[in-house]
Amino acid sequence: MELVAADALERTVRDIFVAAGCDAEEGGRIARELVGANLTGHDSHGVVRVPLYIDWMRRGYVHPGQSAQVVTDGGGFAVLDGQHGFGQTVAAQAVALGIGRAQDQGTCIVALRNAGHIGRVGAYAETALAAGLISIHFVNVAGSPLVAPFGAVERRFSTAPFAIGLPLPERPVVLDFATSLVAEGKIQVASYGGKPLPPDALIDQDARLSGDPHVLYGEYGSTDLRTSAGGTGAIRAFGEHKGSGLALMCELLAGALTGGGCAGPLDGDRRGIANGMLSVYLSPAHFGTQSEFERIGRDYLDWVLSARPVEDGQPVLAPGDPEARTREARLAEGVPLPVDTWAQILRTAADLGLPT
Ligand code: NAD
Repeated sequence: MELVAADALERTVRDIFVAAGCDAEEGGRIARELVGANLTGHDSHGVVRVPLYIDWMRRGYVHPGQSAQVVTDGGGFAVLDGQHGFGQTVAAQAVALGIGRAQDQGTCIVALRNAGHIGRVGAYAETALAAGLISIHFVNVAGSPLVAPFGAVERRFSTAPFAIGLPLPERPVVLDFATSLVAEGKIQVASYGGKPLPPDALIDQDARLSGDPHVLYGEYGSTDLRTSAGGTGAIRAFGEHKGSGLALMCELLAGALTGGGCAGPLDGDRRGIANGMLSVYLSPAHFGTQSEFERIGRDYLDWVLSARPVEDGQPVLAPGDPEARTREARLAEGVPLPVDTWAQILRTAADLGLPT
């Protein structure tokens, strides 16, 4: 493992995106969000993605300098098209619109389609809770069927993440997870020598459970880009029939209702992947229950967290606690990166003519 200081890592990643054609603001935003994912411990959605994003940019799957376009504006709701701009840019615009309107009106629903990869969804919930809002996000990945529905061996769902953020005083709660047993990026991280997968994360064509990334990617060299087209297996949905059902709802809300498209079936015209996101923003202040929400919610959370732990010294955590702890530690100590991941980032920088 290499240990890289977060600010130095952010500068390197920003310079890569600027050298590849983003303006300084967008390059900085992409770098901040990717490194932000590493800081929270979600290395799967962090800088490991840099070479892939640059590859997508070169292929024209994702475009710098885009703005989300309003397709439908109903006041309390809006449909936006991300025009295949960088997700870090167009999703941030969609979130800003949802937050602004919920602060005015009490609620807002924003349906975003055709966004480039938006990264860690919890980051958007964190932006909303910093503005005092509850938010709920259903996300899918159009063009990326990777996950087998409950009872099947074939890929039908994307990793379709789901997130909720609650602005409880002093201890905001952010639940944010892929509906697959592991996020695809975690399989990438494992394939580059990072944290191994649970042994039942994947399923092969013969319905055998596996934790071997080759089931998804087929054969690869140590620094090759990983592509799911190389393998024949699937990731498993989490939580058996319940997680599989939630994945289906994410696909239908973020893919069908937004109009952006579900994970599949794939047709010959699709180029690259796109995130869809249906987000609901709620203002407790407008509901007239802000103080009850905060008092009852906080008392209840404290009671939940006071439950006697299975193991002494391992207290119950709230969703969002592991990320907050990891952020604190990594800001102080640096971001650990597998040697192959760091080598690939430096090679990407060198290919773009940057000094390394
Ligand atoms: P995960 O399995 O690590 O689960 C994370 C959630 O569980 C967090 O809310 C965390 O606070 C909570 N948690 C973890 N340990 C806990 C504990 N001991 N007690 C209580 N709560 C705990 O996450 P994942 O499924 O691997 O997803 C990783 C990231 O990938 C997410 O940020 C997700 O948004 C992102 N993702 C993005 C896309 C996309 O297309 N943009 C697709 C899939 C996943």
